[in-house]
Amino acid sequence: MARIKQGVFSWEDVLAQRYQNNKPPTLPRRRYSIQTQRTDTRTLWTPQPQSTLLTKLSPELRLMIWELLLGGMRIHIVQRANRQMGHVVCPQTGACDVCRGGLPGMKEVDGGRLLALARTCKQIYTESITLLYTLNTFEFSNTWSLTYLRPTIPSDFWDAIRAVELRWAFPGHWLPCKDPVKTVYFSAGRQQWVETCRAVTSMQGLQSFTLQLSGSWFCEPVEKIPVFLEPLRELQLRRGWKLQLPRQPYYVKEIRNIDGGLRKRGIECAVRVM
Ligand SMILES: [Zn+2]
Repeated sequence: MARIKQGVFSWEDVLAQRYQNNKPPTLPRRRYSIQTQRTDTRTLWTPQPQSTLLTKLSPELRLMIWELLLGGMRIHIVQRANRQMGHVVCPQTGACDVCRGGLPGMKEVDGGRLLALARTCKQIYTESITLLYTLNTFEFSNTWSLTYLRPTIPSDFWDAIRAVELRWAFPGHWLPCKDPVKTVYFSAGRQQWVETCRAVTSMQGLQSFTLQLSGSWFCEPVEKIPVFLEPLRELQLRRGWKLQLPRQPYYVKEIRNIDGGLRKRGIECAVRVM
């Protein structure tokens, strides 16, 4: 439980309070805790002999259909009003508001279309729900949406996610501070960044991770990058992960130094400038 100080003392305090106040409600823990797993009724169903879909089609064929319906998407996780989380399926056409750094229109935020299949009945839910998490890329453009999503889904779904793209901006990074390292942490919301990294490194099924540092962070000295990425050192993926820096001439020139500095610290990522 995060400690909230009384009163506001700094920009960091402002961010911390906003972060805490906007957090979505957590799932009721007792339904999904290890102790009650045996009585988890999510996956208990009774046979439906009247359903030709479930009786005539083999499980393999059904699985193929569920995969076609639920896989291969890029899903933007966004924050909605009233501390609710939502998602936008990216059209991947270049005309996506979220991809271009904007906010999605109310119509674009999907209230539940992705879950429509799983909601049909408990058997289809059991057969299909995990595919939604394993077969898609989850993209987090809103700075805090990754840690906000975490407590709103059962932990086994969180662990089923394989591909994540995270865009991180550094609001107020220009705020002056005598300690140059602290400047980065203060401005980014250190607590939020560390929590986000912890949420990423705890994803048991993660196979692909891309961190895109957005333009508002441009021209931070290269030596700060490994310091900032330190909380991701534990992220050991079989094929490494990707770091995308803003397309600044400075970074283009220094890309080898950045790469070398990260490797020296044991941070296993491929750096590119986009
Ligand atoms: Zn998009």
